[in-house]
Amino acid sequence: MSRKCGTGTAAFAEGCLGDRQCALPVAYCGRCRGEVYREDIVYTWEGGYVCAVCMEELFDVMTTGEKAEALGARPVPASGLSGAALPQPDT
Ligand SMILES: [Zn+2]
Repeated sequence: MSRKCGTGTAAFAEGCLGDRQCALPVAYCGRCRGEVYREDIVYTWEGGYVCAVCMEELFDVMTTGEKAEALGARPVPASGLSGAALPQPDT
């Protein structure tokens, strides 16, 4: 008889521990509705949670200004830097 995994608590209890296909999702992504498992990382977003893939997609569509703001950087017009030397990043 096949030991193919099913879904639900009974199948999970029959030795499927460690097999992602058999594990029960602990939640669903608030954006794509994908299953989220215990070992996954999720991110807070607009009052809910999104999966890592959705977080990447959200980041990809951000403007440079939005990314800078998220990092705590402040936009400064370069016109005000006339003659000033920009600090060089540490290498
Ligand atoms: Zn998602």
